[in-house]
Amino acid sequence: MAADMFTFDPELADRIFAYCRERLAMAPVALDFGGTGTDLTGALEGIITPLGTDPAAVLELFTEVLAPRVISGDSERFLAFIPAAPTKASLLFDMIVSASALHAASWLESAGAVAAENQVLELLASLAGLPSGAGGCFVSGGSLGNLSALAVARDDAYRRRPALAGRKVRIALSQEAHSSIGSALHLLHVDPVLVPTVDHQLTGAALAKVLADDPDPETIVAVAATAGTTNAGIIDDLAGVAAVAQEHDLWFHVDGAYGLAGLLSDAVRPRFAGLELADSFIVDPHKWLFAPFDACALLYRRPQLARAVHTQHASYLDILHDDHNIEWNPSDYAVHLSRRPRGLPIWFSLAVHGTAAYGHAVDQAIAIAHDAAALIEAHPDLELIRQPGLSIVLFRRRGWTTADYEAWSERLVLDQIGFVTPTGWEGETVARFAFLHPHTTLEMVEEILATMR
Ligand SMILES: *Cc1c(COP(=O)(O)O)cnc(C)c1O
Repeated sequence: MAADMFTFDPELADRIFAYCRERLAMAPVALDFGGTGTDLTGALEGIITPLGTDPAAVLELFTEVLAPRVISGDSERFLAFIPAAPTKASLLFDMIVSASALHAASWLESAGAVAAENQVLELLASLAGLPSGAGGCFVSGGSLGNLSALAVARDDAYRRRPALAGRKVRIALSQEAHSSIGSALHLLHVDPVLVPTVDHQLTGAALAKVLADDPDPETIVAVAATAGTTNAGIIDDLAGVAAVAQEHDLWFHVDGAYGLAGLLSDAVRPRFAGLELADSFIVDPHKWLFAPFDACALLYRRPQLARAVHTQHASYLDILHDDHNIEWNPSDYAVHLSRRPRGLPIWFSLAVHGTAAYGHAVDQAIAIAHDAAALIEAHPDLELIRQPGLSIVLFRRRGWTTADYEAWSERLVLDQIGFVTPTGWEGETVARFAFLHPHTTLEMVEEILATMR
């Protein structure tokens, strides 16, 4: 048996390819849901044995029992959190990445893969207005991207300001920053400095005031702004924050995991003015750039600063940093070493479809968000909380309690009408739509709204 597992099995391959073909062709993608309190221990029991199980039986367990108990992030009816809508080309190419077991930690091993990933990173950097020489790598998600960038922000401050030695440093952010920034600061042993927001937006003026009022401003070494908050799609005052950051010598990080997909849209890009001054930024292709999980693009203005922090040194790795191998090692720019070239699926899809198609798809999500907002405004029982930020709509059903929203959300997914989860807004539970999938229609939105009786 053991020898066989490295030999191509055409029958098993046919089964897997057939499943992949069917799943890729599924239109629409079934929303699916495992129900609340799903218990699969019984279904999985005994499947892993010393001598192996018939592959047909294992695949059947996956297709019949496990897969239907995963809500499809790529369903056009998934409007919760931040959905996903990978292009077919990107999903297909992801299969090539897997089938080839591609590895892309270093230039020595994988120049061909890294060069293509870097082409995407260069495109994003140039749309953002970063100078040539900017660069970075793809990591698994925004959380790791934020952590990696803020580690560089912190260490760069210690390096440049010897007076900080032995002191805890701080990073400024607003209440609306993503939870992953809070986790990153905790891991980095950095304290947050909360900047009060103006209508949920972090502004340069508010940051300047916090710095002016702080008894110990020299320990504030960076600011993390958000380009498209996850809860409401709000873009911080990037230009204002950038100016204050420059004046006070702060590292300027922009978390655009969701919103910076708007860089691909000619209509949205101007709203990111100030981003060109960022020291680092992130955007997740697995969100609004229509790539499969798991992919976050992490960019640095001066990548050499990241290299100084993240390069792993070990005798067995020395060869990766020989003069002739140092061209570009993705492993030098984040908290990782071994990695799949997760930038390749979006590279392939961008090359095949062109950047204009991406801009158009981003614009489409914004358009349906505005159409949905108009429906809500016209509805007697519903109230729009604010005009959509990018493609996110917050609204309330008059008279509903938190329990009403939760019961409604569960019923919706049980009935396979949609996956919509409530959120908190100014202390109140409200409903939230996050649009992203180009196949989500206004009729689907109407169908969902009609259930809020
Ligand atoms: C989703 C999100 C993150 C976290 O990204 P992951 O890829 O889920 O780790 C960080 N910041 C913002 C603004 C996000 O929307």
